[in-house]
Parts: sequence; C-alpha cells; structure tokens
Amino acid sequence: MVVARCHRCGASAEVYLPYARMWFCSRHFTEYVVDRVRSSLKRYGMIKLGDSVLVCVSGGKDSITLLDVLWCLRDEFSLDIKVLHVDLGIGEYSVKCREVIEKVAERYGIRPMILYVKRILGMDVGAIARRVRRSTCSVCGLVKRYLINYVADVLDVSAVATGHTLDDLTMYILKLFITQDLTQLSRLRPYLEGVPEVGLRARIKPLCEISEFETSTYVKLLGLPHVVAKCPYINPESIDLKIKEFLTSLEDRSPGLKLSLLRNYLRKLAPILMRYLGEDKVGINRCRICSQATSGEVCSFCRLISKLGLEPEEVLRRIREEVLSS
Ligand SMILES: [Zn+2]
Ligand SMILES: [Zn+2]
Repeated sequence: MVVARCHRCGASAEVYLPYARMWFCSRHFTEYVVDRVRSSLKRYGMIKLGDSVLVCVSGGKDSITLLDVLWCLRDEFSLDIKVLHVDLGIGEYSVKCREVIEKVAERYGIRPMILYVKRILGMDVGAIARRVRRSTCSVCGLVKRYLINYVADVLDVSAVATGHTLDDLTMYILKLFITQDLTQLSRLRPYLEGVPEVGLRARIKPLCEISEFETSTYVKLLGLPHVVAKCPYINPESIDLKIKEFLTSLEDRSPGLKLSLLRNYLRKLAPILMRYLGEDKVGINRCRICSQATSGEVCSFCRLISKLGLEPEEVLRRIREEVLSS
C-alpha cells in the first residue's frame, strides 16, 4: 500500500486538501492554514501593523480557528487582540458556549468580554423573537450586530473580526444573487471599511478563503476547545444550508470551485456593484435615540426595543453597565 506523504516534510500524511492537491501531516496542515490566513490578510488589506482587533467568538469551530490563527499572527502584525462573546441565553447550548469561552480565556490568558442578552433585554433571543413575531435567527443577528458595533466603538478598536468562512461567503454570494439584493451583495467583502464619523469600525473576515472542512480539521488536530452542538434554532431546511450543500456537492465534483467563485466575484462583479451603487457611506447616520450607526432615523435595535415595550434609556444603561463590568 502506498502511504501518502506530507507535501512539506515527507512524514506520513493525515489530511488531504483536494483543491490544493496536497497531503499534509498534522503540524504542516495547521501551519498551512495560518499561512493562508496571513496571505488573505495581506491580499485583501485587512489589517495594518499595530491594529487592535475585536474578535467575535461564539465558541464554534470557525470562531475558535479565527482566534487561534490571529493569536499565532499577533506578534508578526503587532496586534492587540480583544475577545467578545455574546451570550444569547439559548439554554444548554449557550451554557456549552460559555464553558468553551472560559477554556479559551485560560488557554490564551485573556479576559474575554461577555455580554448577556438576557440581562440587557430581560429575555433570551427565542423569547424576543416570539414576542415580535420574527425568526429567531434574524433577531439574534440584529442583537449581535448591534452589541458588536457598540463594543467596538467603546473599545475604539481598528477592526472587528468575524469567523465567516469560504463556505459562508460563497453561500451569501449565491443567495444574494438569487434574491438580487445588490446592496447587501456589494457589502460582501473580506474587508469592509469603517465609517468613523458614525462610530462604525472596519469589518474583516480573515477566514474568507478557509473552508469549514479546514476549520473543523484545524480545531481537531490542535485539540482546541470548541462547541460541537449546533444552535437549536438552526433550521436544517433553511435556504442557507441548502445552498451550502449544493455548493459543497459542486466542490466535491470540481475541487477549487468555491475559492474561484469568491475570487472571481471579488475581482469582477464586486467592483462593478460598488461603482453602480456608489459609496457604502452614503445614507449612514446616527440613530436619533441611541446614536449608533443606522441608515434610517431610528436604528433597528431601538425599533426592536420599543416593540418589546422597553425603555431605550434603561436598555442603553444596562448595556453600558454590562460593558463596563466585563
Ligand atoms: Zn509535514
Ligand atoms: Zn438606536
């Protein structure tokens, strides 16, 4: 029997990456992932030397990979890394996420900031969604986005890093193309410039060229703590998951397809959309109630608060307290 050999050192290999047509031993696979993230950071101009980066960590394999890789690169880029975890109050699932965050804190010797949705809004995201008759995922996304922007502004970081993978980005490209949501599609980039006038920080997606197969292999080989359970609100029949499955079946037949979809989109369609739709910044101002960034007069978070019958002043006071105490 022929034993597969690591592309870098010739030792017996453990991982095969069809799109790269390369075998790796465990050590060189993890090094390869770090190398690829480094080149994505440079290729898309995501960070500068000395930047402070707020890393959003849910506890899943993707955000854990993101944190570990940025941690490996922190000296090289002189990064100041801060970690934020939003506790959504989703029963056993959130408890597991928090346990992972505690292990992460111990492993890297850091103090993550943890914000509890239940303390801020008086109920978990499921209850909020039922109350306002919206899907849990859309409420969860809205609340997380708001809290992340708020914290990034208070901590005055250069950029907010999220664990979106190649699978997420290609899924969104296809989904937004299908729905022809060109404004959102034009914002789908590894580096999204901030709008300092309204307190919006840059958004970066350092794992944009890393697949979920790679993140799950990365955490497994390094034995990194991560949450295996899926959020109970994820709908297995959702269009997002169906598009991901479809793209993965194409990738299996034609390795490298996802990467070339992303790169071709960024090189060809994205610049046209940006020119066509004009600058991102147009129409972004501060919310009349909370003064965070919004495209309307009142932001969607403040509208959610009023639908819940809560006092905006009181909620904003709780957020400030939570941020200051963590
Ligand atoms: Zn090797
Ligand atoms: Zn607001």
